[in-house]
Amino acid sequence: MAQFLTLLLRNRLAAAGGVLLTMVVLLALAVPVLPLQAPNVTDTANRFLTPLAEGHLLGTDHLGRDLLSRLLWGTRLSLAVGFAAAIFAAFFGAAIGIIAGYFGGRTDNLIMRAVDMLMAFPYILLALAIVAALGPGLGNALIAVAAVNVPFFARNIRGITVGLAHKEFVDAARLAGLGHTRIILTEILPNVLPVIVIAMSTTIGWMILETAGLSFLGLGSQPPQADLGSMLGEARSALITNPHTSVVPGAMILIIVMGINLLGDGVRDALDPRLRSGALTRPRPTTRVDRNGPVPEAERDGAILSLQNLHTQFHVKNRVYKAVGGVSLKVKPGECLGVIGESGSGKSVTALSIMGLVASPPGVITGGAVRYRGEDLVGAPYEALRRLRGDRVAYIFQDPLATLHPLYKVGDQLAEAIRVHHPIPKAQAWARAIALLKQVRIPNPESRAGSYPHEMSGGMRQRVGIAMALANDPDVIIADEPTTALDVTVQAQILSLLDDLRRDRGLAIVFITHDFGVVAQLCDRVAVMYAGRIVETGPTQAVLATPAHPYSARLIACVPELGAGRRRLEAIPGLPPAVDRLEAGCAFAPRCLKTRAECRAGEIALKGPANSPDTDREVRCLYPETAAVSERDMP
Ligand code: ADP
Ligand code: MG
Repeated sequence: MAQFLTLLLRNRLAAAGGVLLTMVVLLALAVPVLPLQAPNVTDTANRFLTPLAEGHLLGTDHLGRDLLSRLLWGTRLSLAVGFAAAIFAAFFGAAIGIIAGYFGGRTDNLIMRAVDMLMAFPYILLALAIVAALGPGLGNALIAVAAVNVPFFARNIRGITVGLAHKEFVDAARLAGLGHTRIILTEILPNVLPVIVIAMSTTIGWMILETAGLSFLGLGSQPPQADLGSMLGEARSALITNPHTSVVPGAMILIIVMGINLLGDGVRDALDPRLRSGALTRPRPTTRVDRNGPVPEAERDGAILSLQNLHTQFHVKNRVYKAVGGVSLKVKPGECLGVIGESGSGKSVTALSIMGLVASPPGVITGGAVRYRGEDLVGAPYEALRRLRGDRVAYIFQDPLATLHPLYKVGDQLAEAIRVHHPIPKAQAWARAIALLKQVRIPNPESRAGSYPHEMSGGMRQRVGIAMALANDPDVIIADEPTTALDVTVQAQILSLLDDLRRDRGLAIVFITHDFGVVAQLCDRVAVMYAGRIVETGPTQAVLATPAHPYSARLIACVPELGAGRRRLEAIPGLPPAVDRLEAGCAFAPRCLKTRAECRAGEIALKGPANSPDTDREVRCLYPETAAVSERDMP
């Protein structure tokens, strides 16, 4: 709620509208206690007094009635009727829309055709017909205005509900045995409520105008009772001779409707869930960079992609989430580097930081460098990054259904990925798409290229994802848990496919996973990540055989071995730390069995074993597991 108000007030026009409207509403509420003259007492001797006349601040009308008093009483009435009509319309419209959208099928058809029939009449004509049938009067005008607005709400809410009715959380509620009423009230309604409020805030002004329109025609409030519309109607005959009698109610209508519309637009912007997380700012095309340390020097070590002391944080309000806290990694052409760690350890954020794909806000790269062929990509201009994205450096994500566009054929999507970077004729791109599908071993690639993503199985879609990553023959592929959603046989096929590709094409692969089995199968080297930092790196075989960091050792102990007999699987107790309040020292200390005071004292460096020939290994631990890697003797 507080967040909603801050967002609303940041929008100056909406705030102005809000202030205007609040003043009018307060004034209307205070009318009975204000020292006003009676609004309906006629005094024909003092007809058409001009504003500022004695005793009549705004003058008098054609019957000598005090205009100020009539204006305020009329405003009160018009507001009340407008709001009441909006609430009725929203209530019945939303109820109809939710029922139609939730139950669907014949119910939906029947209800929506009736709504369509109502919508086929022009608004004001329908309202006139309703009032004509019910007889003139403010109550009937209210009913008419509410009724003609019900279809608008019903259509709007039905659309949202149809989208929600088949979402997983609604299915889950059904599985839990909840009845329709409970589901509608607890699952659907909270999700459509913001839409109802938005629709209301943008239509109240319109409904006040419609009510005024009916009163203007003499079908709403009946004399001598004043509302803004009837005041205008009565002043019409004196429009030329005594314009102030029309200007006064007209100006009030203008103020009210403008205030409501400005405020309504602000409410819509602040409540729209799509605008909320981004705090009304468009996400940037690249991650924001705010490096406060020096940029690390380039190293000549044959690596095609290297991360040097990379820091990526999320700044949310006054919290700082250190998702990546100084990560250094490198891959050479033809090499596969595994990055492994529990969920939440910062693997995906590391991967996305490479091409500046972390959403900003809230993401910020606060330090380090990402070098592709020696050139720093952190803070590189958007165009430079865009040329590399998908062309030289390609990504494969975990969920192929989320990466593929549901409405285009996979062949077209592959062709598009090629043509973004290489403007070749469409037919040629299509032929290349088929060749790519063949390369990732999709059967019948010619006909499969014409399939939509939903017509394929999960494994096949992931192959399309890989084909898309390969489309422009990249140098580096960053695969973020590409096989996590697949079953074991498909996973094995995809791993061997990636392995062949890197041998044939000299691809460098950064393979992110939480599965040591996958790392063992595919990767030359492995980096173990914990709480946003690398805690151990080394050749895969060496790390698997003799893990040095207690965390790696325990991760490996969690992997069941087939055919190795019965072994106790040691789960790691506790959870990874929250990255917005990391304490000094080793982040794993709270879960480690060997923690001592020094472990929590301060920064622990990632360094190689001092007295070991194994120079390729590094570990961030004071008391590593294996004697071969330990620097000092374990007591
Ligand atoms: P994983 O290793 O499972 O891929 P991630 O890289 O996705 O983990 O996330 C790393 C950390 O960053 C997590 O602790 C997560 O809570 C945090 N994080 C990710 N996105 C955001 C965000 N938009 N705002 C705040 N924290 C985030
Ligand atoms: Mg992830």
